[in-house]
Amino acid sequence: MNPAVWVERHGRRHRDRTALAEGERVHATWGAWAARTASLAGGLRRDLGLQPGDRVAIVMRNRPEYLEALYATWHAGLVAVPVNARLHRDEFAYILEHSGTSVAVTDEDHAQDVESLRGRVASLREVVVAPGERWARLASAPAVALTDLGPHDPAWLFYTSGTTGRPKGATLTANNLLMASLSYFADIDPVSPLDAILHAAPLSHGSGLYGLPHVARGATSVLPESGGVDGDEIAALLQRWPGTSFFAAPTMVKRLAADPAVAAVAPAHLKTVIYGGAPMYLADLEDALDAFGPRLAQIYGQGETPMTITALSAADHADRDHPRWRERVQSVGFPRTDVEVRVVDEDDRPLPTGEVGEVVVRGGVVMAGYWNEPDATAETLRGGWLHTGDMGSVDDEGYLTLRDRSKDLIISGGMNIYPREVEEALLHHPGVRAAAVVGRPDPQWGESVVAFVVATDPSAAPPTDELDRTCLDRIARYKRPKDYRVVDALPTNNYGKVLKRELRDLLAREDAPGR
Ligand code: AMP
Repeated sequence: MNPAVWVERHGRRHRDRTALAEGERVHATWGAWAARTASLAGGLRRDLGLQPGDRVAIVMRNRPEYLEALYATWHAGLVAVPVNARLHRDEFAYILEHSGTSVAVTDEDHAQDVESLRGRVASLREVVVAPGERWARLASAPAVALTDLGPHDPAWLFYTSGTTGRPKGATLTANNLLMASLSYFADIDPVSPLDAILHAAPLSHGSGLYGLPHVARGATSVLPESGGVDGDEIAALLQRWPGTSFFAAPTMVKRLAADPAVAAVAPAHLKTVIYGGAPMYLADLEDALDAFGPRLAQIYGQGETPMTITALSAADHADRDHPRWRERVQSVGFPRTDVEVRVVDEDDRPLPTGEVGEVVVRGGVVMAGYWNEPDATAETLRGGWLHTGDMGSVDDEGYLTLRDRSKDLIISGGMNIYPREVEEALLHHPGVRAAAVVGRPDPQWGESVVAFVVATDPSAAPPTDELDRTCLDRIARYKRPKDYRVVDALPTNNYGKVLKRELRDLLAREDAPGR
């Protein structure tokens, strides 16, 4: 089933209700959005000559045109590649090249970077800036009928950084998106046409995925004018659009809970904050519950299972008198209705209750595989189970608690950073002989990036600003280390593998109270 059918349906049934809002202003009714979707799809197919299955990248900050592009792409039977707009131009290039993207839709803020990829990315034929004159022309093309999408047809290539240091495209099919949407109604919240979803977090990630069940039920999608997270703006939007829910990383929840303007209006106007993507400290969660009331639901997921593995419901959060309340709110919750979750040992054998092993997942939400990466796909989906790379344990009631990550992933401000990509960037500096990057607990960001660097010439270690520049020239700004440590050597085991745990322990000792 094609998700764009939802826009078409509400275009008939709720013709005059608000579908898309930019800040407090109505951007489109359902009738207008449905007509625009069918015309844009016509423009993509006829004017730009795209065929079903071709890839369309979306590189833009949150704005109504993002959703216009996404649903028009699907209406036309094309595959969307929503790219994290905060990545570096070279990272855009890699994703566009790897996905074989033919057309990129971008906005004014990113146009220069994306335009510069013409010629460099062989498959890229057209770059369209939205809003803009070309976009308007595509939107006035003759409408085309909704294209059929089979359950296994790819719909969304979700690029996630990998341990290899190169992003991989989790291929999400039409059925994956449908199952994740239905699962939202089963385990998070029912949604009505009177509700709204506020997209304060990037649409290329959880916010976009959780936008789907809202479009499915005819709720309003609200795009903040700032394109991001601003307390005063969010407070105003909660009042303008009652019944609003939003998806946020824990660091963002913490920030908003401490914002007096948001806290003042949230109890009366907020429906649910869906948080996840990284661990949340208990003290921060308690503050958020005090500020927002029992309106928090946690989710645990990955791009590979469109953010749908377990959930900790609002009811679980609210049940503060429960003897295991503290344990529960530090877990990631209970398996989603449509998902099987197991904890297994290194040989994929299920482990008993309470033992820590790798979390593996099976169900209709699990991706078809990594786009054009058969080896990585076979490794990750072995035995018919998705291997998440997360380590956890399940208690006797079935709640899953994450203990560690088997991969070295750092999550800072809700953004995933794979140390390998930062290390590779640093190694471009001739003065760097070796580099190891780890995360350090950070009260504001969850974790912050720290780089341990061995200098080529120990008497002339490269200065921090040069190391910074080396990173900024290659990777997204948010991935750049916040702290550089020049060391004589990196701790290694007998096989020469760097012992990152020792580096983390070293930082933990520095952070220990009493120092
Ligand atoms: P991504 O594919 O970018 O969404 O990253 C997924 C990873 O984020 C997971 O494999 C986990 O390591 C982490 N993660 C997601 N949700 C949670 C959560 N609720 N608590 C702790 N870590 C999480």
